[in-house]
Amino acid sequence: MTVDHDVAPGPLNRCQICGSNSLELVLDVGHQPLCDSLLTIDMLNAAETSFPLRLFRCEVCTLTQLDYVVDGAIVYKPDYPYRSGITKELSEYQQVFADGVVKKIGLDESSLCVDIGSNDGTLLTGFKKNNMRILGVEPTNIAKIARLENDIETIQSFFTENLSENIVKDYGKAKVITTTNVFAHMGPLGEVMRGILTLLDNDGVFITESHYLMDVLEGAQYDTIYHEHIRTYSLKSLVTLFKYYNMEIFSVERADRYGGNIRAYVARKGTRQHDGSVADLLRLEDAKGMSKPGIYKSFRDNAYQTRDELMEFAYKAKLNGRRFVGNSCPGRCSTLLNFCGMNPELLPYLAEQPTSLKLGMYLPGMHIPVVENSILMEEQPDYVLLLAWHYGKPIMEQLRARGLKSKFVMPLPTVKVI
Ligand SMILES: [Zn+2]
Repeated sequence: MTVDHDVAPGPLNRCQICGSNSLELVLDVGHQPLCDSLLTIDMLNAAETSFPLRLFRCEVCTLTQLDYVVDGAIVYKPDYPYRSGITKELSEYQQVFADGVVKKIGLDESSLCVDIGSNDGTLLTGFKKNNMRILGVEPTNIAKIARLENDIETIQSFFTENLSENIVKDYGKAKVITTTNVFAHMGPLGEVMRGILTLLDNDGVFITESHYLMDVLEGAQYDTIYHEHIRTYSLKSLVTLFKYYNMEIFSVERADRYGGNIRAYVARKGTRQHDGSVADLLRLEDAKGMSKPGIYKSFRDNAYQTRDELMEFAYKAKLNGRRFVGNSCPGRCSTLLNFCGMNPELLPYLAEQPTSLKLGMYLPGMHIPVVENSILMEEQPDYVLLLAWHYGKPIMEQLRARGLKSKFVMPLPTVKVI
């Protein structure tokens, strides 16, 4: 059976991987603006665009996906504000990842490593330190930061079959192709897969890292539902996908970035030895009931419950004259704050690091201003809501070390005051 994996923007009523129409609603978080479409002060008086944001699951291959796809050209505008090197935790994580890949695959020096959606080149810096040849592909202006500030050769473009042919002509075939936190975002998945087949050397390895459905479900992370995340993969759905391209996952790892990721090592069928991890994790998915409705219902119930508890907390804080503010403005906080209806009267600001490109902007939808986080130490508010709660521990330690005495509030997986 062939399935068209090049998903067009707009409503979607079939599984993007296996083509099945057996889709069940998991959670509807309402119509929402794009989570990274932060607003300048001048834009606050203009109309704002929002799109449906609903998560569905495929009853056949266990993929979860949105039922409305926003055009990538709208989502990844040249001024898209995200930078991967911005947090110390993330750049260390990427270095460990690069070192691990070089060892696991047994890469020779000067092998070509291509990162798709390479952002500011943080992951490629890790490969460069291992003496690999590197090339980034990044559609937004962050490509310029990668080239100019980080000295990472980067092509500013979406990844297409045509681009892959040009890369092969100019650089040769790649021994490693990586996509981290990008592979679940791409609408024209078929185009991307054909590009990978063109660019990857015969014994090359494609490594993709994405949010993992099991962690999303078990961690109650409904805030990972946003328009960029067209798909949230289970291992079963990834295994299904690669079969269409005569490729197979020979090894799989779980990693803790963003509160739980799946990292799949993929090669042309029969070229790499399997290490047993794929079969193990498929068994675990089955044991957890990921092909049955119960786990998805619990996930939905928890999203409503934590929303109500958080809003109760915010209203009580306001009624009792307590200062309740937000820390960090990761993309995912837009889903959470818009779903909850948390407005600037209840949460007057989001405090971000001084290097953030989001400073001075406003959260889409709720219009909460993003300010520099030194305000927390000056103001010592009663409660600080941790919106990057998946990095909660290091963030609390850093803020404590800078003299913050406030209590912390975790929004998920349960609402908790620390
Ligand atoms: Zn499916």
